[in-house]
Amino acid sequence: MGNLPFALPDCDQPATVRLEVYGRDAAGDPFGSLDAAVYCCEQHAIETVTAVWIADLTAHKVELAPDIVRACGDSYVFPTGNLGGQR
Ligand SMILES: [Zn+2]
Repeated sequence: MGNLPFALPDCDQPATVRLEVYGRDAAGDPFGSLDAAVYCCEQHAIETVTAVWIADLTAHKVELAPDIVRACGDSYVFPTGNLGGQR
């Protein structure tokens, strides 16, 4: 797992929101690179989105599938994204 350039909540409550975190590609498209998925509870969703924006990344909120169980603060860095170190 790579390092995210922003802080995640230290919370561990059941997550209700999934945020897809995008970085820019070489052309400057803000959705050019799907870098990470971040999970958070409703209480921490806004501050997490803000942290993503401050890091000059773009957060896209998507519904968390009902059969997916994650804790607030969980994350997954896509190996193919800018943060995955495989470019
Ligand atoms: Zn939380």
